[in-house]
Amino acid sequence: MTAPRLDFRLLKVGHCTHPECVAMRGGRWASMMFPALCGLLQHPTRGWILFDTGYSNHFIEATRQFPERMYRWITPLSLPPEETLLAQLQASGITAGDIRHVVISHMHGDHIAGLRDFPNASFITMRAEHETMQRKSRIGGLLHAFLPALMPDDFAQRVMYVEDTAGHALPAECRPFERGYDIFGDGSMLAIPLPGHSRGQLGIVFRQRDDRQVFMVGDACWSNISLQQDRPPTWLARRIFDSAGDYARTFHQLQQIAAHAHSPQLIPSHCVQTWNSYRDETA
Ligand SMILES: [Zn+2]
Repeated sequence: MTAPRLDFRLLKVGHCTHPECVAMRGGRWASMMFPALCGLLQHPTRGWILFDTGYSNHFIEATRQFPERMYRWITPLSLPPEETLLAQLQASGITAGDIRHVVISHMHGDHIAGLRDFPNASFITMRAEHETMQRKSRIGGLLHAFLPALMPDDFAQRVMYVEDTAGHALPAECRPFERGYDIFGDGSMLAIPLPGHSRGQLGIVFRQRDDRQVFMVGDACWSNISLQQDRPPTWLARRIFDSAGDYARTFHQLQQIAAHAHSPQLIPSHCVQTWNSYRDETA
Protein backbone atom coordinates (compact mmCIF):
# COMPACT_ATOMS: atom_id res chain seq x y z
CA MET A 1 0.00 0.00 0.00
CA THR A 2 1.47 3.37 -0.92
CA ALA A 3 1.60 6.03 1.75
CA PRO A 4 -0.80 8.98 1.36
CA ARG A 5 0.62 12.01 -0.47
CA LEU A 6 0.41 15.43 1.17
CA ASP A 7 -0.40 18.87 -0.15
CA PHE A 8 2.45 21.15 0.78
CA ARG A 9 3.12 24.87 0.87
CA LEU A 10 6.16 26.65 2.21
CA LEU A 11 5.43 29.82 4.18
CA LYS A 12 7.78 32.55 5.36
CA VAL A 13 6.64 33.83 8.74
CA GLY A 14 8.93 36.79 9.41
CA HIS A 15 12.70 36.85 9.28
CA CYS A 16 15.67 37.93 11.33
CA THR A 17 19.06 39.29 10.35
CA HIS A 18 22.49 38.14 11.46
CA PRO A 19 26.06 38.44 10.11
CA GLU A 20 26.66 35.87 7.37
CA CYS A 21 30.14 35.10 8.72
CA VAL A 22 28.66 33.70 11.96
CA ALA A 23 26.22 31.43 10.18
CA MET A 24 28.63 30.12 7.56
CA ARG A 25 32.38 29.66 7.54
CA GLY A 26 33.98 32.17 5.15
CA GLY A 27 30.84 34.31 5.01
CA ARG A 28 30.75 38.11 4.79
CA TRP A 29 30.50 40.46 7.77
CA ALA A 30 27.36 41.94 6.25
CA SER A 31 24.03 41.00 7.79
CA MET A 32 21.95 38.56 5.83
CA MET A 33 18.30 37.62 5.99
CA PHE A 34 17.24 34.43 7.75
CA PRO A 35 13.61 33.73 6.78
CA ALA A 36 11.58 31.77 9.32
CA LEU A 37 10.11 29.05 7.09
CA CYS A 38 7.21 26.76 8.02
CA GLY A 39 5.44 23.97 6.22
CA LEU A 40 1.67 24.01 5.73
CA LEU A 41 0.55 20.48 4.89
CA GLN A 42 -2.77 18.85 4.24
CA HIS A 43 -3.22 15.15 4.89
CA PRO A 44 -6.18 13.46 3.14
CA THR A 45 -7.73 12.34 6.46
CA ARG A 46 -5.71 14.11 9.18
CA GLY A 47 -6.43 17.58 7.85
CA TRP A 48 -4.22 20.64 8.22
CA ILE A 49 -0.76 20.23 9.72
CA LEU A 50 2.01 22.74 10.39
CA PHE A 51 5.72 22.05 10.55
CA ASP A 52 6.90 24.81 12.93
CA THR A 53 5.25 28.21 13.28
CA GLY A 54 8.02 30.77 12.71
CA TYR A 55 7.81 34.08 14.55
CA SER A 56 4.64 35.59 16.00
CA ASN A 57 3.62 38.57 18.09
CA HIS A 58 3.97 36.28 21.13
CA PHE A 59 7.72 36.29 20.42
CA ILE A 60 7.79 40.09 20.63
CA GLU A 61 5.88 39.92 23.95
CA ALA A 62 8.16 37.21 25.33
CA THR A 63 11.31 39.22 24.51
CA ARG A 64 10.12 42.63 25.73
CA GLN A 65 12.03 42.49 29.02
CA PHE A 66 15.61 41.87 30.00
CA PRO A 67 17.18 39.29 29.89
CA GLU A 68 14.90 37.79 27.18
CA ARG A 69 15.35 41.02 25.20
CA MET A 70 18.89 39.84 24.36
CA TYR A 71 17.42 37.24 22.00
CA ARG A 72 15.96 40.06 19.87
CA TRP A 73 19.15 42.14 20.00
CA ILE A 74 21.23 39.28 18.68
CA THR A 75 18.74 38.32 15.96
CA PRO A 76 16.64 41.43 15.18
CA LEU A 77 13.37 40.35 13.64
CA SER A 78 10.88 41.64 11.13
CA LEU A 79 7.26 40.47 11.10
CA PRO A 80 4.92 42.62 8.99
CA PRO A 81 1.22 42.11 9.88
CA GLU A 82 0.44 40.37 6.58
CA GLU A 83 3.29 37.91 7.17
CA THR A 84 2.03 36.50 10.46
CA LEU A 85 1.03 32.86 10.21
CA LEU A 86 -2.56 33.64 11.22
CA ALA A 87 -2.87 36.30 8.50
CA GLN A 88 -1.44 33.97 5.84
CA LEU A 89 -3.73 31.11 6.86
CA GLN A 90 -6.73 33.42 6.87
CA ALA A 91 -5.84 34.63 3.37
CA SER A 92 -6.06 30.97 2.29
CA GLY A 93 -9.42 30.43 4.01
CA ILE A 94 -7.93 28.43 6.90
CA THR A 95 -8.79 29.32 10.49
CA ALA A 96 -6.54 28.77 13.51
CA GLY A 97 -9.04 26.16 14.72
CA ASP A 98 -8.60 24.16 11.50
CA ILE A 99 -4.98 23.26 12.34
CA ARG A 100 -5.04 19.71 13.75
CA HIS A 101 -1.34 19.08 14.39
CA VAL A 102 1.80 21.14 14.78
CA VAL A 103 5.02 19.20 14.26
CA ILE A 104 7.82 20.96 16.14
CA SER A 105 11.31 20.65 14.67
CA HIS A 106 12.78 21.91 17.95
CA MET A 107 11.76 24.31 20.68
CA HIS A 108 13.81 27.43 19.91
CA GLY A 109 11.71 30.59 20.05
CA ASP A 110 11.75 31.28 16.31
CA HIS A 111 10.13 27.87 15.65
CA ILE A 112 7.43 27.66 18.33
CA ALA A 113 6.36 31.30 18.73
CA GLY A 114 2.91 30.61 17.27
CA LEU A 115 1.95 27.50 19.28
CA ARG A 116 -0.47 29.46 21.47
CA ASP A 117 -2.49 30.43 18.39
CA PHE A 118 -3.76 26.91 17.57
CA PRO A 119 -6.27 25.78 20.20
CA ASN A 120 -7.28 22.51 18.51
CA ALA A 121 -3.83 21.27 17.52
CA SER A 122 -1.90 18.42 19.03
CA PHE A 123 1.84 19.04 19.32
CA ILE A 124 4.25 16.49 17.91
CA THR A 125 7.85 16.65 19.07
CA MET A 126 10.65 14.58 20.53
CA ARG A 127 10.50 13.86 24.25
CA ALA A 128 14.24 14.53 24.38
CA GLU A 129 13.61 18.12 23.22
CA HIS A 130 10.80 18.87 25.65
CA GLU A 131 12.71 17.42 28.60
CA THR A 132 15.84 19.40 27.72
CA MET A 133 13.85 22.63 27.66
CA GLN A 134 12.16 21.83 30.99
CA ARG A 135 15.51 21.17 32.67
CA LYS A 136 16.99 24.57 31.80
CA SER A 137 16.98 27.60 34.09
CA ARG A 138 15.68 30.94 32.80
CA ILE A 139 19.17 32.16 31.81
CA GLY A 140 20.46 28.73 30.84
CA GLY A 141 17.45 28.25 28.58
CA LEU A 142 17.78 31.70 27.06
CA LEU A 143 21.42 31.04 26.15
CA HIS A 144 20.08 28.11 24.12
CA ALA A 145 17.27 30.15 22.51
CA PHE A 146 14.46 28.69 24.65
CA LEU A 147 11.59 31.00 25.65
CA PRO A 148 9.24 29.01 27.94
CA ALA A 149 6.66 31.84 27.85
CA LEU A 150 5.82 30.72 24.30
CA MET A 151 4.60 27.31 25.45
CA PRO A 152 0.81 26.87 25.72
CA ASP A 153 -0.30 26.25 29.33
CA ASP A 154 -1.87 22.92 28.36
CA PHE A 155 1.09 21.73 26.29
CA ALA A 156 1.56 18.61 28.43
CA GLN A 157 -2.02 17.48 27.73
CA ARG A 158 -1.70 18.02 23.99
CA VAL A 159 1.78 16.70 23.23
CA MET A 160 2.52 13.48 21.35
CA TYR A 161 6.11 12.29 21.46
CA VAL A 162 7.48 10.74 18.28
CA GLU A 163 9.51 8.30 20.39
CA ASP A 164 6.14 6.67 21.24
CA THR A 165 5.20 6.10 17.59
CA ALA A 166 6.24 3.14 15.47
CA GLY A 167 9.75 2.95 14.06
CA HIS A 168 9.85 2.94 10.27
CA ALA A 169 12.53 2.17 7.68
CA LEU A 170 13.43 5.27 5.72
CA PRO A 171 13.44 5.41 1.90
CA ALA A 172 16.79 4.76 0.23
CA GLU A 173 17.03 8.43 -0.77
CA CYS A 174 17.44 9.31 2.91
CA ARG A 175 20.58 7.21 3.46
CA PRO A 176 22.71 7.38 5.60
CA PHE A 177 19.65 7.87 7.83
CA GLU A 178 18.04 4.45 8.06
CA ARG A 179 15.23 4.53 10.64
CA GLY A 180 12.69 7.17 11.46
CA TYR A 181 9.32 7.41 13.21
CA ASP A 182 5.99 7.00 11.47
CA ILE A 183 4.09 10.00 12.85
CA PHE A 184 0.59 9.09 11.61
CA GLY A 185 1.07 5.33 11.29
CA ASP A 186 0.49 5.38 7.52
CA GLY A 187 3.97 6.23 6.24
CA SER A 188 2.83 9.66 5.03
CA MET A 189 5.18 11.63 7.28
CA LEU A 190 8.35 10.19 8.77
CA ALA A 191 10.26 11.96 11.55
CA ILE A 192 14.05 11.75 11.55
CA PRO A 193 16.08 12.73 14.63
CA LEU A 194 18.64 15.45 13.75
CA PRO A 195 20.53 16.05 17.01
CA GLY A 196 23.18 18.71 17.52
CA HIS A 197 21.62 22.11 17.00
CA SER A 198 19.32 21.06 19.82
CA ARG A 199 19.10 17.76 21.70
CA GLY A 200 15.79 16.54 20.31
CA GLN A 201 15.57 18.20 16.91
CA LEU A 202 13.61 16.32 14.27
CA GLY A 203 13.11 16.67 10.53
CA ILE A 204 10.23 15.28 8.46
CA VAL A 205 10.19 13.44 5.14
CA PHE A 206 7.06 13.16 3.02
CA ARG A 207 5.89 12.96 -0.57
CA GLN A 208 3.83 15.67 -2.16
CA ARG A 209 0.83 14.89 -4.34
CA ASP A 210 3.06 15.13 -7.46
CA ASP A 211 5.30 12.47 -5.84
CA ARG A 212 8.20 14.83 -5.17
CA GLN A 213 9.91 14.01 -1.92
CA VAL A 214 10.62 16.75 0.63
CA PHE A 215 12.87 16.63 3.70
CA MET A 216 12.40 19.57 6.06
CA VAL A 217 15.54 19.68 8.19
CA GLY A 218 14.90 22.47 10.69
CA ASP A 219 18.17 24.07 11.80
CA ALA A 220 20.36 21.02 11.14
CA CYS A 221 21.91 23.33 8.56
CA TRP A 222 21.08 26.95 7.80
CA SER A 223 21.34 26.82 4.02
CA ASN A 224 21.75 24.31 1.22
CA ILE A 225 24.79 26.28 0.03
CA SER A 226 26.52 25.59 3.35
CA LEU A 227 26.02 21.85 2.72
CA GLN A 228 27.18 21.96 -0.90
CA GLN A 229 30.24 24.09 -0.14
CA ASP A 230 31.00 22.40 3.18
CA ARG A 231 30.74 25.63 5.17
CA PRO A 232 29.21 24.84 8.56
CA PRO A 233 28.53 27.61 11.13
CA THR A 234 31.47 29.13 13.02
CA TRP A 235 32.28 28.59 16.70
CA LEU A 236 30.25 31.69 17.65
CA ALA A 237 27.00 30.21 16.35
CA ARG A 238 27.89 26.79 17.71
CA ARG A 239 27.78 28.16 21.26
CA ILE A 240 23.99 27.97 21.25
CA PHE A 241 24.10 24.37 19.97
CA ASP A 242 23.39 21.46 22.28
CA SER A 243 26.38 19.49 20.96
CA ALA A 244 28.92 20.62 18.38
CA GLY A 245 29.94 17.00 17.78
CA ASP A 246 26.38 15.84 17.09
CA TYR A 247 25.82 18.91 14.91
CA ALA A 248 28.86 18.06 12.77
CA ARG A 249 27.71 14.43 12.41
CA THR A 250 24.17 15.42 11.39
CA PHE A 251 25.52 18.09 9.01
CA HIS A 252 27.74 15.50 7.34
CA GLN A 253 24.82 13.06 6.98
CA LEU A 254 22.77 15.76 5.25
CA GLN A 255 25.70 16.47 2.94
CA GLN A 256 25.63 12.82 1.88
CA ILE A 257 21.90 13.06 1.10
CA ALA A 258 22.42 16.28 -0.85
CA ALA A 259 24.99 14.48 -2.99
CA HIS A 260 22.53 11.73 -4.07
CA ALA A 261 21.28 11.89 -7.64
CA HIS A 262 17.67 11.48 -6.47
CA SER A 263 17.86 13.25 -3.16
CA PRO A 264 14.70 14.66 -1.58
CA GLN A 265 14.40 18.42 -1.68
CA LEU A 266 16.14 19.57 1.51
CA ILE A 267 14.47 22.54 3.18
CA PRO A 268 16.45 24.20 5.99
CA SER A 269 14.24 26.47 8.10
CA HIS A 270 16.27 29.61 7.41
CA CYS A 271 17.58 29.07 3.85
CA VAL A 272 17.02 32.26 1.85
CA GLN A 273 17.91 30.63 -1.50
CA THR A 274 15.34 27.87 -0.90
CA TRP A 275 12.72 30.48 -0.09
CA ASN A 276 13.54 32.61 -3.15
CA SER A 277 13.39 29.68 -5.54
CA TYR A 278 10.18 28.33 -3.99
CA ARG A 279 8.57 31.78 -4.27
CA ASP A 280 9.66 32.16 -7.92
CA GLU A 281 8.44 28.63 -8.77
CA THR A 282 4.99 29.14 -7.24
CA ALA A 283 4.52 32.78 -8.32
ZN1 LIG B 1 15.88 28.61 14.01
